[in-house]
Amino acid sequence: MNRMIGRELKTARKEMATRGVKKKNGLLFIISAPSGAGKSTLCRAVRERFADLVYSISYTTRPPRGGEQNGVDYHFIAKGEFEKGIASGRWAEWAEVHDHYYGTSAEFLDGELSVGRDILLDIDIQGTRQILQRYPDGVTIFILPPSLEVLKSRLHFRDTDSPEVIAVRLKNAREEIAQKDFYRHIITNDRLAVAVAELITLIEKYRS
Ligand code: 5GP
Repeated sequence: MNRMIGRELKTARKEMATRGVKKKNGLLFIISAPSGAGKSTLCRAVRERFADLVYSISYTTRPPRGGEQNGVDYHFIAKGEFEKGIASGRWAEWAEVHDHYYGTSAEFLDGELSVGRDILLDIDIQGTRQILQRYPDGVTIFILPPSLEVLKSRLHFRDTDSPEVIAVRLKNAREEIAQKDFYRHIITNDRLAVAVAELITLIEKYRS
């Protein structure tokens, strides 16, 4: 009898110890920037530096651009499927950006965070606001171009969009930059190498 109680106690202690050392939830890093501010390059550098940081692949209804791969750059889905997802609560956040839907899977985020994995989200400001309502500890980072003039010339130089699309992106950029103080951290991408170092140092600080 006594031996039995002893064994039960041991099991209970073991369980408590396991609970005590259980890894805490992962961290959520949310990066936003107007298009042309160099966010993709910065995010790539972050992903190369932190191999264990999980990148959340967004869902979008926009068509793939040259070289983009389904399931790698985005999950490209039809408008109908996206709208069904809105109705069923599939998205942790979603937004209409440049006339297309973009969204983040709630199931994916909750699953990864609950097993202690840190996640990198590359979303716009509308999405960031929604994410913070759901995950108030999210670390928000805004990438700022040195000026609107520089942004304009980068968008033209990139040569991936028509003049009309560039005009929409510039208008959106102005609106997004006006809301930059909503973010916890702002990094100006004047010189890429400096911005990369700044971003990596920042993420390292949170993860250590
Ligand atoms: P692009 O079409 O150039 O890849 O992305 C356009 C904008 O949509 C970028 O500002 C990007 O951050 C944003 N975006 C990409 N994925 C998501 C997402 O899942 N949710 C939200 N809210 N914005 C996203």
